[in-house]
Amino acid sequence: MSNKKLFASLGLDAKDLRGGDLTVCSPINGAPIASLRVDTARDLKRKIDRAQQAFLVWRTVPAPRRGELIRLLGNELRRNKKALGHLVSLENGKILAEGMGEVQEMIDICDFAVGLSRQLYGLTIASERPGHRMMESWHPLGVVGVVSAFNFPVAVWSWNFTLAIVCGDPVVWKPSTKTPLTALACQALFKRALKRFGDAPDGLSEVVIASRKIGDRMMDDPRLKLISATGSTAMGSKIAPRIAGRFGRTILELGGNNGMIVTPTADLDLAIRAILFAAVGTAGQRCTTLRRLIVQRDIYDEVVERLKKAYASITVGDPLAPKTLVGPLIDKGAYDTMQNMLKAVAKEGGTVSGGGRLLARRYPKAYYVEPAIVEMPKQTDNVGEETFAPILYVMKYRTLDQAIRIHNDVPQGLSSSIFTNDLREAETFVSAAGSDCGIVNVNIGPSGAEIGGAFGGEKETGGGRESGSDSWRAYMRRATNTINYSRELPLAQGIKFGE
Ligand code: NAD
Repeated sequence: MSNKKLFASLGLDAKDLRGGDLTVCSPINGAPIASLRVDTARDLKRKIDRAQQAFLVWRTVPAPRRGELIRLLGNELRRNKKALGHLVSLENGKILAEGMGEVQEMIDICDFAVGLSRQLYGLTIASERPGHRMMESWHPLGVVGVVSAFNFPVAVWSWNFTLAIVCGDPVVWKPSTKTPLTALACQALFKRALKRFGDAPDGLSEVVIASRKIGDRMMDDPRLKLISATGSTAMGSKIAPRIAGRFGRTILELGGNNGMIVTPTADLDLAIRAILFAAVGTAGQRCTTLRRLIVQRDIYDEVVERLKKAYASITVGDPLAPKTLVGPLIDKGAYDTMQNMLKAVAKEGGTVSGGGRLLARRYPKAYYVEPAIVEMPKQTDNVGEETFAPILYVMKYRTLDQAIRIHNDVPQGLSSSIFTNDLREAETFVSAAGSDCGIVNVNIGPSGAEIGGAFGGEKETGGGRESGSDSWRAYMRRATNTINYSRELPLAQGIKFGE
């Protein structure tokens, strides 16, 4: 399908896609695919004003009715899964199977949110006073600001958006300037759902295409009661204090540096497959990408040898071609960062296999790389940094205690895994003395989470949780209600006051 047809099928208006200052290029070949008008500070204000007006109406709509709107959005996504998945690949460079997987994740969270719209429960609590009842009510919080990263351009928005909408909160979304088209397509699909829904207020969903400068202003607007920001730790550390300064809430979903421990009892056939997907999938550009492999020394040589063989079988190339497993990096900046890091770790004693540029002749303006394996004598500060590219560091360990120490000895705490068939090792890894991450897996890799669980990580990953489980609570405010149905006025703690 031509780009023109693809854009039209997703409801993007051709006249909005040309003549603007923001040029959007496909990482597949570096060619421009659109140029968009960027929002000014005034546009941002106007959009937040509209969302705030929408909040005043939407908060009083019964939650199951709000869920109906998300059910309709899920239907639009089902109808347009192929087209939106294709656009994700075109704009972000991930392979088509992963682009479609991302849209499936959106459909899944829509289903979850629809169910949730009838389950926004509070507790009833035993009161210490006779003739009194205590309970919790959960109310809509206010307008939610969503800032998203280029690597999951639509799924992460949908985790936030679907929950926010059923919880009663309009959303103002600032997508990455590297992937604005997918955001506009989501907005167009949501508009179709709104049309079917009928009576929703204007301003439930606003998209802001803007530079960091304008994005910055978003952080200071007190009407955005919650900012859910996904991106680098550097971004999080800039915005978090500002939002805290105005007592706004945050969900921070920041960088990861995910590890896997492979023990002598591991099923190596499974482990090698899991490592491959987790380390090279999405060209190493997942927050949950496997970046550090910690292997027991007795099986180290075998694991590395098998891994190198598996790496040699990977097809790197056009992400829209059916046999490709690894597409391009997002841009030259990502390529340069990868090359600089490979040089730095080689200086620290790392043995680098792979990592070079591929297909440069065919795609002089795109950045395809051979995924790299780097055998490290120890975990250095550079290994402790997240390099957003397919670099897998491999290190040896002797005892499980030592492996867990190495595993936890990085600033980030997103995802982790262990491959073992030893119950004691598995349970130790998931215990309080084990992995210190927000996601802790046994016999699967660290990437590829399902929407049903709470997603997020500890330490410099930011501590936020979104998607499944009880993450919805972040989008609501809790009121504790005490109701006196007696004819007396007993005080709590038995206090006598003026009697
Ligand atoms: P990035 O930090 O460069 O940008 C992310 C978003 O933040 C973009 O929309 C960007 O415009 C915005 N931004 C950056 N600085 C800002 C500022 N000062 N004020 C307001 N907005 C600002 O990240 P990226 O390169 O797009 O994405 C890759 C990073 O995202 C990696 O570190 C990856 O681990 C992380 N990530 C984390 C998760 C998670 O759930 N933990 C998920 C996906 C990506």
